[in-house]
Amino acid sequence: MSDPYRDWDAAYILGALSPGDRREYEQHLEGCFSCAAAVASFAGMPGILSAVPRETTAELLGPVSSPATLLPGLVRAARAGQRRTRTRVAAAIAATALAGAVAGSRFFPQPCSHAPRFDRTTLVPVTSLGPGPAGGAARGGAGGGVE
Ligand SMILES: [Zn+2]
Repeated sequence: MSDPYRDWDAAYILGALSPGDRREYEQHLEGCFSCAAAVASFAGMPGILSAVPRETTAELLGPVSSPATLLPGLVRAARAGQRRTRTRVAAAIAATALAGAVAGSRFFPQPCSHAPRFDRTTLVPVTSLGPGPAGGAARGGAGGGVE
């Protein structure tokens, strides 16, 4: 079981405990060797701290002022993080689409682009449908094209 007074030593030494807490802690010190040893280890601390000039103490304990550029810098950093996240998401979507296209091309191969194409209405290869007389004769010779 942990000692509930374990962290009270520094506050006791510095005089930060309330009078009631101080009395309670002093009663505890009479029976707890561990806490008494901790207080003894801080015995010289008030003397050391009293050697520090009061102005220096005020400077050390004063409120931390933030520079005027802190907030704009944080906003810029947050926006840059959002841009990086969006870029990663877009890249992931593009990669997924590319992978899908590659997989689709393997499962559903497209015909070779150099294969002859056929006119769907006549089933004659497109390359032979020229303006010449051979094209008209191939369609039965009924007075030329319907075009
Ligand atoms: Zn104790």
